[in-house]
Amino acid sequence: MLTNDQLGKWDRESFFHPSTHLAQHARGESPARIITGGKGVHIEDRDGTKLLDAFAGLYCVNVGYGRTEIADAIAAQARELAYYHAYVGHGTEASITLAHMVLERAPKNMSKVYFGLSGSDANETNIKLVWYYNNIRGLPQKKKIISRWRGYHGSGLMTGSLTGLELFHKKFDLPLSQVLHTEAPYYFRRPDLDMSEADFVAHCVAELEALIDREGADTIAAFIGEPALGTGGIVPPPAGYWAAIQEVLKRHDILLIADEVVTGFGRLGSMFGSDHYGIEADIITIAKGLTSAYAPLSGSIISDKVWKVLEQGTDENGPIGHGWTYSAHPIGAAAGVANLKLIDDQNLVANAGETGAYFNAQMREALADHPHVGDVRGEGLLCAVEFVDDKKSRTFFDPSKKIGALVSGALLKHGVIGRAMPQGDILGFAPPFCITRAEALHVVAKTREAVKEVLG
Ligand code: PLP
Repeated sequence: MLTNDQLGKWDRESFFHPSTHLAQHARGESPARIITGGKGVHIEDRDGTKLLDAFAGLYCVNVGYGRTEIADAIAAQARELAYYHAYVGHGTEASITLAHMVLERAPKNMSKVYFGLSGSDANETNIKLVWYYNNIRGLPQKKKIISRWRGYHGSGLMTGSLTGLELFHKKFDLPLSQVLHTEAPYYFRRPDLDMSEADFVAHCVAELEALIDREGADTIAAFIGEPALGTGGIVPPPAGYWAAIQEVLKRHDILLIADEVVTGFGRLGSMFGSDHYGIEADIITIAKGLTSAYAPLSGSIISDKVWKVLEQGTDENGPIGHGWTYSAHPIGAAAGVANLKLIDDQNLVANAGETGAYFNAQMREALADHPHVGDVRGEGLLCAVEFVDDKKSRTFFDPSKKIGALVSGALLKHGVIGRAMPQGDILGFAPPFCITRAEALHVVAKTREAVKEVLG
């Protein structure tokens, strides 16, 4: 067994952490956080400190930690058949069963599921399929993709481009030229404080229409969006947003990709965010909640409309030239099957809706009146608290003060993990679906204390 010091040293010397200040970490200025166990909504670190993880890892451990049902399914699959590929029509019992289970839960217009490993690679797949789709339809110019500022769709070359956050572009030569960004449906940050929600939706629609006019609808293939913005700030859309946007997309023959990596499988209290907001997508991206992160697995759910063209494409051109060695990996698939069963058996989607509504209401009650809390918002088991310097004029803090990070740091000292979202002073919550009302109330109480410590 390695000592803590030895692990910490190796960590600084050997491990390239994602989304981390590399120099500070290597110099040992940020503490090595080595997590060793978890049960329910709690994790434990190497020093035996127990923390309530109110962000479910990266909003992915939806069923909670320590679920032996999923661990057993993974072990059984590894013993029986750890791997076989899915190329040229091969499958395993787990991957076929999981595809069937996903479609049973997905919106009715969906036809097939392609499995990848991460949300990023699933969105890369989606963009390739959209390009293929328009080539087969004889529309080779129709290739640009519209995303929203503050959208998060991954950090690959294409998906990092789709992501509408500065940190993911800066110094990486992104976004790629095929990607366009439009207004985020972020009512709290509306350009004019006097705008009603309806005015703001009309503004988002007008911005989208203007972009399409400028570029030409015949050059635009698809629009990608999360049903509720996640990493960009945890922002449910204003009422009527999705209906209005879909009308524009349909009129211009632009496909809709619903990125449900966070919202898929229950986070909003509905099986999919698409059900929740009346979105009829052409492709749905899934990942995190598919296995509750017990194993890496993602998917692209393809509608009948797109599927028919893909079939036509292979009749004309031969097998589709797309796939990963680990597509539909049986261990991930076995985890997915066990995870979806657990979600059903324990009624966790309903709990996400009910406890989520309670959690959001309590957070609002505890913090909405604070002079530096500009907004408390959420849906299902997503919740965000946004801090402002001046409430009346909605003036934000100077970003260099790092208020969001200070509050999440103070909260951590109280044994609760909330996430300082990357753009803005926003504290985000996305706990596991098994969270109880008492645990939710504990998170609210500790958040209130942390806010008081930092902002008075
Ligand atoms: N799409 C959304 C909505 C996400 O929130 C994320 C990750 O947080 C991704 C895609 C990318 O997923 P991954 O980190 O598994 O590549």
